[in-house]
Amino acid sequence: MSLKTKIANIFFPARCVFCDEAMDYRTLYCICDKCNIEIKNYYTADGCFMFLDKIRSSVLRFKFAKATDYAQTFGLTMAAQLKLRLGKINFDVAVPVPLSPKRLRKRGYNQSALLAKVIANELNIDFDDKSLIKIKETEIQSKSHSSSQRAKNLKGAFAIKGDNLKGKRVLLVDDVRTTGATLEECSNTILKKGKAISVFPWVFARVDT
Ligand SMILES: [Zn+2]
Repeated sequence: MSLKTKIANIFFPARCVFCDEAMDYRTLYCICDKCNIEIKNYYTADGCFMFLDKIRSSVLRFKFAKATDYAQTFGLTMAAQLKLRLGKINFDVAVPVPLSPKRLRKRGYNQSALLAKVIANELNIDFDDKSLIKIKETEIQSKSHSSSQRAKNLKGAFAIKGDNLKGKRVLLVDDVRTTGATLEECSNTILKKGKAISVFPWVFARVDT
């Protein structure tokens, strides 16, 4: 550990992203030993986390309480799971699910873009948060809506700017999957309007349906 890191640890101790406890060491992944063991129980069969308990509270801090430094740990975890599941990485570009301009202004950052940037860097692929845009304000997707209501709510919500996704293999990144309707609508837009050759959605956590 460098002297600079040691000093940083005294004044600004790294905090575990899952339990928020101060850690006496600093690593690429800000996960304490205790949580590192515990979170293994929260993996779904397809390699993301269940949106429950400390995973859920951690994502909520990331999303709504400006805990943007979590992106490093979350993004690296997502990249590691992808490599583990797929073996070979066959993507050209990581694209985040966009926020509407209004919501982006209000929140100040797009949490999915922060994740996609870390993943792109880790997988050595491009990052593109300009091509897929959200042009319509939508209600929060909820399980209480029927699937036809959800589809109606999202219809025409996304659009493509430019032609950067044409012929590309896209990794579509989001923080949480609730119903899957948003990812589906984004995927359709990327394929039909963006003329990408494939889309693979990847999320940090999912609400069990
Ligand atoms: Zn912890």
